[in-house]
Amino acid sequence: MSVGGMRARLVESGPEEEEEEEEVEVEVLHSEEELRLSVHPAVGVLGSGDFSRSLCTRLLASGHRALVGSRDPSRLPRGLFPEGTELGSQMEAALGAERVVFVALFPEHYPSLVGLREALAGKVLVDVSNADRLGRGAGGSNAHRLARLFPQSHVVKGFNGVSAWSLQTGAHDGSRQVLICGDGPDSKAGVVQLAHRMGFSPLDMGCLGAAGALEEAPLRAFPSWRGPVLTTLLLFLFLYGYGSMKNVLFPYLALGQNHFYQLPLETVNQTLPAVAMVTLALVYLPGLLAAGLQLSRGTKYRRFPSWLDCWLGSRKQLGLLSFLCAGLHGIYSMCLSIRRAAQYSLLNAAYRQVRAEIPNSWVEEKVWRSDLYLSSGILGFGVLCVLALTSLPSVGNTLNWREFTFVQSGLGYAALTLTVMHTLFFGWDMAFSPGSYSFYLPPMFVLALVLPCVVLVGRLLLALPCLACRLTKIRRGWETKRPRKTDQEVGITNGVVADG
Ligand code: NAP
Repeated sequence: MSVGGMRARLVESGPEEEEEEEEVEVEVLHSEEELRLSVHPAVGVLGSGDFSRSLCTRLLASGHRALVGSRDPSRLPRGLFPEGTELGSQMEAALGAERVVFVALFPEHYPSLVGLREALAGKVLVDVSNADRLGRGAGGSNAHRLARLFPQSHVVKGFNGVSAWSLQTGAHDGSRQVLICGDGPDSKAGVVQLAHRMGFSPLDMGCLGAAGALEEAPLRAFPSWRGPVLTTLLLFLFLYGYGSMKNVLFPYLALGQNHFYQLPLETVNQTLPAVAMVTLALVYLPGLLAAGLQLSRGTKYRRFPSWLDCWLGSRKQLGLLSFLCAGLHGIYSMCLSIRRAAQYSLLNAAYRQVRAEIPNSWVEEKVWRSDLYLSSGILGFGVLCVLALTSLPSVGNTLNWREFTFVQSGLGYAALTLTVMHTLFFGWDMAFSPGSYSFYLPPMFVLALVLPCVVLVGRLLLALPCLACRLTKIRRGWETKRPRKTDQEVGITNGVVADG
């Protein structure tokens, strides 16, 4: 029966039952307090810094009592902690916490807590600290140090990847994922449940041996992006340098023409699509190389070289960087006509036309080409947008593997084809005009077309029935009759899917 229900029954009862009622009332009040405590379990937080304050906000919001333990609670200014927080000494927080105590201190201060050993015995200590440098190994983690200091408590690592800001703003704004590891299944389950109640998505990372990696994770900034970003940047610098030399520097040195004004916008806008196209080709090239290797080896049970594994693992990042460059190219292109240089060029062209008494400068072929060029570019960018969207975990997770393969492989090749068409419509005549090869250098778009064309031709070759059938058989486990090599060579290719 609910507390409210019990109260109602008491009010309805007659005066002869008054004495009995008083006893029952006290009992009810007891059970109300018990109910409040069981619905709002007390969670201890040692330390009164930024993390502690934000954590208390979330704990209170999710219906918990927050007991903060400070070395000197009297020094804490009023209003520093959210209303409802119970401030006290470290001992009070350690004793008052029902099961879970967050240790929101820097690890160098852990030894100052050893006086709380008995009070914390049997309780779950959540270590939220981060590493201050890389490479200390699993045994040297802060969580292990805490576990050694408190052998009678159960240490669980977690919440260290969540910022104080994320905790304060709530799980709807900011990162929701909380990585958790620990040795005791019960203690870990308790922290996982608490994280759920606070509105986070806890992810069990295994035993406490994983703590070192969790502590070091915030120190590794974008680990999977380093290679793709460096590749894209180098590509950009190479092509930008090439365009600057061919269109600006050499004309100045050889002919005295001043085209330096092209450097900030025009040259950048020539470089961006070239980079977008080459990076998109780099997304699909490793899949072709992997397929070629499987065909030549006649098996899928041999490891790819590590560079190819690494490349296959970077395809998503390369694709997103290609999308970024294509998007920037779109914005730059829309701004081309509002430049002063474009306005002067247009006026000068109009003036020359008037002087030459040409009433109509309409060239049907050029009109068609420019419209096809723009249309294929817009369509290519649209398909790239779909690819970028499906690479978001929240969208990708709604697709089954077949749909995902169709989008990432089928639509990916469609995007590559459309961007190649966009480039060909733009420069078809220029590609075959000797005037475009000034200083014996081909135009930038010709360079940019080489790799995408190789990839598209490679894909067409793989679609030939004789190769496609053999590849399908190999990917289903068929092998040419060849003695297997060493045990080490046997095994699926590091789990990286080479498809497409
Ligand atoms: P902080 O603002 O400096 O607070 C640390 C608390 O530790 C102080 O308020 C103090 O509380 C206590 N303390 C300070 N010196 C001490 C000493 N000599 N001996 C014992 N206790 C001492 O730090 P924080 O930002 O809250 O970070 C606390 C922990 O959370 C760190 O391990 C950090 O890596 C981790 N963390 C923080 C964030 C974040 O966004 N801030 C995010 C993830 C993880 P009393 O004076 O009340 O005792």
